[in-house]
Amino acid sequence: MSQKEKIKNILADGAKHCSSEIIEKLYPIIDYRARIAGLKKEGVKIKSEPCGGRCGREHTANMFRYWIETQPVQAGLFELRKLHAYEI
Ligand SMILES: [Zn+2]
Repeated sequence: MSQKEKIKNILADGAKHCSSEIIEKLYPIIDYRARIAGLKKEGVKIKSEPCGGRCGREHTANMFRYWIETQPVQAGLFELRKLHAYEI
């Protein structure tokens, strides 16, 4: 399994995962940011936000939390309708 696939597997539960957790689980990983960018390019909807220690660990560097956006179908339809109404 490639590191990209491993990251996808970690994020697949829809929960937010701190980059420190990803690094720990995939150690030694070369560049998780590049793998995440690669996944995004493949169409995986990965969102991120600054962690700021919300994972319960203290960070000396700027860490981000990542998760895969899972949107209910209903919300998608609503967005589509809104867009359609706007265009008219
Ligand atoms: Zn964190």
